[in-house]
Amino acid sequence: MQWASRMEKIPPYLFLELDNIIAQERAQGRDIISLGIGDPDRPTIPVAVEALKHAVDNPATHRYPNYLGSLEFRQAVANWYERRFHVSLDPIHEVVGLIGSKEGIAHLIWAMAEPGDIVLLPDPAYPVYYTQTILAGAEPYAMPLTAEHGFLPDLRAIPDAVWARAKMLWLNYPNNPTGAVASREFYQEAVDLCGQHDVLLCSDGAYLEMGFDGYLAPSVLEIPGAKETAIEFYSLSKPFNMTGWRIAAAVGNASAVQALGTLKSNLDSGPFTAVQDAAVAALQSGPAPFFTAMNALYQERRNIAVRALTSMGIPLQAPEATFYLWFQAPFGMTSAEATTYFIREAGVLLTPGEAYGTHGQGWMRISLTIDTARLQEGLERMAAAIQKRPPV
Ligand SMILES: *Cc1c(COP(=O)(O)O)cnc(C)c1O
Repeated sequence: MQWASRMEKIPPYLFLELDNIIAQERAQGRDIISLGIGDPDRPTIPVAVEALKHAVDNPATHRYPNYLGSLEFRQAVANWYERRFHVSLDPIHEVVGLIGSKEGIAHLIWAMAEPGDIVLLPDPAYPVYYTQTILAGAEPYAMPLTAEHGFLPDLRAIPDAVWARAKMLWLNYPNNPTGAVASREFYQEAVDLCGQHDVLLCSDGAYLEMGFDGYLAPSVLEIPGAKETAIEFYSLSKPFNMTGWRIAAAVGNASAVQALGTLKSNLDSGPFTAVQDAAVAALQSGPAPFFTAMNALYQERRNIAVRALTSMGIPLQAPEATFYLWFQAPFGMTSAEATTYFIREAGVLLTPGEAYGTHGQGWMRISLTIDTARLQEGLERMAAAIQKRPPV
């Protein structure tokens, strides 16, 4: 079967590959501890589960949903932005419902970028920005995220000739994979530069509700005038433990929201109404205590993992947010070598940093979305594997 030639431009999805590795190892009877994918291990916020049960009993939810998200859902997102970030949003023109933010991120790139355009991308980054840019025939321009710059791109280093052809700029804070956070000052600079150069500023807010030691992330839309140039993706997946439910929203710049809605309504028919009802219940419930409890759990795991890695001789900075740890592979191994090494010698799956871009080469990511005792066991096995490696 001959696939379309555009398929040659994209790799198989990383986490599908990692799932295959785990399945193969487990088929051989090995106990594999996966510290790979970032997928909350705890149950969904209970009010959403209750609301869904109720909603599916109502046959009205069984029909095609509102393409752009129900008014109730869009209003609930707007209300939450008001409460959480003091940002007002018009639910009709500045909010669109999504079947998870991955879908919206991919489709926004298709709606905005074309051959000849440049899309400014962090490197390392969530792989979808890059693969969709390539598929859409636009040109990715990597903005390196380095430890020296706190894993923030140096926006002033982008040449004018690049700005001139740039159509979109992607940011993701709190950041996957590095765990870094962005300040309001940084967002101000990004809003100013994108405004000057007529570039759509795209903020992937998958981890906006996650923070340690009381850290509360800002939204890019808090910057005055940001809505003229910025759109933000707010996903319920990670903060509400709802990854399987597929529900998120894109909010902000009305023209970008409209472009995304126009493309989407020609492609899909919106999230299941019962799931939207459940999301409304979650957003209206006053979820701050739920976030606090989840962040406390991840913080405890972060502390355990930081201590363990440090005692293995792996230097790293404790992240202020997300549920990821980002560190350099030991013994100067490449990411791929270290991934294979820890699978073989420890039965532990880590995510290779190079999967997030060239600047992720030599780095590894651990996800804290695993039962604390299993995390501890995985770290002990890693320590043992490092001990038994002959010095080079
Ligand atoms: C998990 C993740 C997403 C996807 O979230 P969904 O809303 O579940 O599609 C998007 N961006 C980043 C950076 C993520 O880590």
